[in-house]
Amino acid sequence: MNRLILKPGREKSLKRRHPWLFSGAVAKVTGKPESGETMEVHSSTGEFLAVAAYSPLSQIVARVWAWEQREIGAEFFRVRIQRALALRAHLLPDREAVRLVHAESDGLPGVVADRYGGVVVLQLSSAGAIRWRDEIADAIETAGRPQTIFERSDADVLALEGIATSVGLLRGAPPPAQVVIDEAGVKFEVDVPHGHKTGFYLDQRVNRQRLRGLANKREVLDCFAYTGGFTVNALAGGAAKVTAIDSSGPALELLKRNVALNKLAQAECIEGDIFQHLRKLRDQAKSFDLIVLDPPKFAPTAAHAERAARAYKDINLLAFKLLRPDGLLVTFSCSGGVSRELFQKIVAGAALDAGVEAQIVEHLSAGADHPVALNFPEGEYLKGLICRVAG
Ligand code: SAH
Repeated sequence: MNRLILKPGREKSLKRRHPWLFSGAVAKVTGKPESGETMEVHSSTGEFLAVAAYSPLSQIVARVWAWEQREIGAEFFRVRIQRALALRAHLLPDREAVRLVHAESDGLPGVVADRYGGVVVLQLSSAGAIRWRDEIADAIETAGRPQTIFERSDADVLALEGIATSVGLLRGAPPPAQVVIDEAGVKFEVDVPHGHKTGFYLDQRVNRQRLRGLANKREVLDCFAYTGGFTVNALAGGAAKVTAIDSSGPALELLKRNVALNKLAQAECIEGDIFQHLRKLRDQAKSFDLIVLDPPKFAPTAAHAERAARAYKDINLLAFKLLRPDGLLVTFSCSGGVSRELFQKIVAGAALDAGVEAQIVEHLSAGADHPVALNFPEGEYLKGLICRVAG
């Protein structure tokens, strides 16, 4: 096996079992390894540390597959995927729409698999994961027995690894024209081939249900509404009215179909930029009882944290201004580069500048199908707060 040999003293994070090796820590690469090839990682003194997948073009030059075992192949993926599925079977009673494999946190860097009924959507986002596509698909087929495995390896990060995107049927029958899931009694159509990521944001499942319980008789503003995850739950929870804003026309079309699918009264949809529309609503002196802010990842890495902080502060400040007394703000960040502490500070700063007094009444995160490996704190990307504005 070709080797990655580290600079002196650079083995510390691998010894704590953090699965990423940054290019700056590497002194030498032996042989002429291909992209995605399995390599042994050794310290400067020759100590074996891990086997990892080589990503020659990425800042993260290798992602660890295993710490002791050296043989990576079909059996390795069979065991890891079975372990991931067993966790879901153990902890989640309802598994119709669930994340089956959550990358690093399930010991499978670059591998995400989401189940929507009989359809599993596989998203591979690293050179190593792409190299083992067939073995990974076989393992999911054997362990999960889906009717379909559809590949959506089209994340932007692939370009950083110099890998072409790959979208299409991998195993089984083509996905049905309409993939419909039932999430705790609410139905959603998921656009598997064209939707964001794998089609739907499963990480917000528990928080959508929480919102359903808070929405009764309230006037709700759902910002970054996508296909209506929060909007439909607010309506199902008895909201007096929901206004949904998103910049994507096709997402809002699907939102309307999802509202209709649940036989609920339509939401008011606004297509456009949130930063502009929140200002417009403020200038029109509009107000709401409950506002959801679920923006996309403003800070993909810690390097973007400062610019992201300004964007988070801006929308949270505007939302605080639009809330009525006793109103609730349900606000999220899914930026890996923004910690929970930093996010709370930003929201606190927004309340201060908006001139409102507010309390945190709940901390939110993703559900049990999005575990966070203790050796990989970056896995805790989704954090949310429910804040109540004083009356
Ligand atoms: N809340 C959704 C997921 C939101 S994903 C759910 O639970 O399913 C983020 C959404 O923000 C996407 O639909 C994207 O189209 C939208 N978006 C991104 N930037 C935006 C902007 N500046 N203004 C309005 N919408 C934006």
